[in-house]
Amino acid sequence: MVDENRLRKELDAEQCKAALQISGPVLILAGAGSGKTRAVTYKIAHLISAHQVDPRRILAVTFTNKAAKEMKERIRKLLGGEAHLDWMGTFHGICLRILKLCLAQPRISEVMGWTYSRNFTIYDSDDQARTLKSVVLPILGEVESAELKKISGKISRFKNSMCLVADVAGPKVSLQTPELVKEQARFGDEEQTATFYLEYQNKLMAADAMDFDDLLFRTVQLFQKMPAVASQFANRFQQVFVDEFQDTNDIQFLLLRQMMNPARNVTVVGDDDQSIYGWRGANIGIIRSFHEDFAPVTIVKLERNYRSTSLIVKGAGSVIENNARPESMRKKVYSELEDGDPIRVFRVADDRVEADRIAEKIYSLGPTAYNETAIFYRTNAQSRSLEKALNDKRIPSVIFGGMRFWDRKEVKDLLAYLRILVNSRDDAALGRIINVPPRGIGKTSLEDLQAIARKQKLGAWEALANEVQLGTKLGGKFKAFHDMMEDLRKYLKDENSSLPILAEKLIEKSRYKIWIEEEEKDQAEERAANMGELVNALREFEEEHSDSNGGGGLEQFLQEVALLSDADKKVVEGQTRVTLMTIHMAKGLEFENVFLAGCDEGVFPLIRKSSLATTSAAEIKALEEEERRLFYVGATRAKRRLFIYSATQRFWQGTVTSFSESRFLSEIDSTAVERLDLAGSASEERTGGYSGGRSQQYGQSFGNKTFQRGGGNGFSGGSSGGYSRPQASNTIRKVYPGGIPDPDSSNKPKGPPIREIVYDEHSQENLYFKPGMMVRHARFGVGLIRGLLGTGPEAKVDVEFQDGVVRKLILKYANLTILQRE
Ligand code: ATP
Ligand code: MG
Repeated sequence: MVDENRLRKELDAEQCKAALQISGPVLILAGAGSGKTRAVTYKIAHLISAHQVDPRRILAVTFTNKAAKEMKERIRKLLGGEAHLDWMGTFHGICLRILKLCLAQPRISEVMGWTYSRNFTIYDSDDQARTLKSVVLPILGEVESAELKKISGKISRFKNSMCLVADVAGPKVSLQTPELVKEQARFGDEEQTATFYLEYQNKLMAADAMDFDDLLFRTVQLFQKMPAVASQFANRFQQVFVDEFQDTNDIQFLLLRQMMNPARNVTVVGDDDQSIYGWRGANIGIIRSFHEDFAPVTIVKLERNYRSTSLIVKGAGSVIENNARPESMRKKVYSELEDGDPIRVFRVADDRVEADRIAEKIYSLGPTAYNETAIFYRTNAQSRSLEKALNDKRIPSVIFGGMRFWDRKEVKDLLAYLRILVNSRDDAALGRIINVPPRGIGKTSLEDLQAIARKQKLGAWEALANEVQLGTKLGGKFKAFHDMMEDLRKYLKDENSSLPILAEKLIEKSRYKIWIEEEEKDQAEERAANMGELVNALREFEEEHSDSNGGGGLEQFLQEVALLSDADKKVVEGQTRVTLMTIHMAKGLEFENVFLAGCDEGVFPLIRKSSLATTSAAEIKALEEEERRLFYVGATRAKRRLFIYSATQRFWQGTVTSFSESRFLSEIDSTAVERLDLAGSASEERTGGYSGGRSQQYGQSFGNKTFQRGGGNGFSGGSSGGYSRPQASNTIRKVYPGGIPDPDSSNKPKGPPIREIVYDEHSQENLYFKPGMMVRHARFGVGLIRGLLGTGPEAKVDVEFQDGVVRKLILKYANLTILQRE
């Protein structure tokens, strides 16, 4: 029970005030690490537990899917059981849900004039570019990708910001629809952009697709046009929460207002000093004027930082003090923990030394510290040398951002096939794979097909299917591809179909794997492993939805994947590794040890010279302040130790460039920091030992073994410390006829020993499995077999697990262990 007593025990007085104020608008405005997210988590648990609020009537917005997952998990733990927080997620995820519900009602589509289905596809930036190109090309002829990006950026800005339009009752805030943009265009180029915008939106709708911006834009548009629908949702949400409120943009704020019912039970939580997404349209003014926009507001200021030791809090605070802030936003932040280690600032010779230093330091912390250690940098490009240095020391690491699994070519190609299976109007997907692997469909055939599609106002697939059916010459070229897709579609429709098996069939029938093996020998193995991982992701997804509640179709899988962001990277649970990410991604997270790399003037703050010429002094100041906030976010992720590096020269944007130290470093309160200048001794450092008085002084003041290692005391690489790098996933699973030791032996039934057999893809048949048998599944635990379906590689089994849920699993993937008495 999360009652008031518990809140009083586990939250401080101010946090309690925020959690217990369950009616009307509440603003928790507080510095980093002061327990804002914790207060929200407890408040939600308290509402469910003590006030019987139905979790399905709580809307909670987090900044990433990962943050939503973590918050759900914490609430589940507080409540001691599952809560159906269906409406906890990112703005995009929530809008997707709203749109799916609305699109199931034909009347809404009719009023809106929309032709989307509820299983519409979500386009990523590749698909957007492909679609935009098909709009722009017929008008401009050739178009460079930089130009395309510019147009795409403009369209995105239209969809993410409002404008004021004259209305009889005075100026009115309006969405920038293509029609409005067209109406307001004054010059030829503006009109042309408006035309592209309109055509692009039309193309997307014809393809039954929305881009990311559309998820919000279309929802707001719907709510504006159909206020009754908006108020249905507003009334559904008894309580509304927004974490990281400082990074809300205009359209998100508008949406929030639309979802507000008269009770206005809304809790927003944030820190204007951590607003770091201005470049993406976030508006820091929103949090700063919330108390006026939603007046009267209960404002709670949290000042005690629970995360970090005192010197870190002091040091980070002294930097952010240099930003201009409205008086009403001023907040003290202090820590009651001990002073702790000072912030350590290192000046090194170059980026290579920087990476080596960081790796050495982490190595000295030992494998047990890896999970609690993170390296942050300003730009993704900096990650490569850091990753290499860690790898050289055999320190396992995971990079968030950069090339994501879902962005790999082979993964995107296979997803494109799957997308066509659920949405045959998805022209971007079809364009992507129609001749991948090459199947003799040339440029001319494609252009002919597109011309027919345009003329007959059909989607490309529809036109293709027509041609095949009519038996035209053009159709002949597409027939094999068409038939393969139809076969797969037929399989998908079969009620006994399974998603991972569908993917396996696809990989085989499209000859994708064979093609890669033939064409790209050196990368074939890695790419095959990625394909295997995609099959695995489908298997996991299907398993997660294997209870009888339905859901879990291919459409849902594709939509979920489309919503994943860099921060949502899948990491293998239980693996020890150091985290590498940009500071932007680190928002809300915390680690014992934090390394900030690349704190050089020009790198961080990042000053883009290209934009300087066209930027006003006030805008430059705003950009600098955002960079300072970013530094503050980075520094305040550290619980115990913060190491900051700057280098006199580094390889930067193609050349070796000299840098001075970041201005932020001189802003750190001198009593919170220890500095060490190693810039003049690069080569000596590498061979061990420091020269000069300062390093000695450093060695003494920290008594730090790591930095006094001299020549070779354990840095020679190799995997000492009992750690070895994780192996690439191996599909061979072991069969344990002798029995696997039960990890929780106290649960072991008394009696003769249990014989355990693992069924895997190498087992001949599902010979062993019979209804009534007890089995164990790695995730769902022990269960009872209720039924068997089919034989061979597609055989399935119904298992009733201890949570009472019957799940349908595919034997060859389920890796079940039979528990039977001998
Ligand atoms: P950020 O600004 O980085 O988002 P935050 O204000 O959301 O930070 P939390 O992440 O909620 O802060 O809390 C920071 C840390 O302090 C967490 O480890 C949290 O568990 C701990 N903490 C917060 N409040 C308390 C408290 N009252 N008692 C003990 N620990 C607390
Ligand atoms: Mg937080």
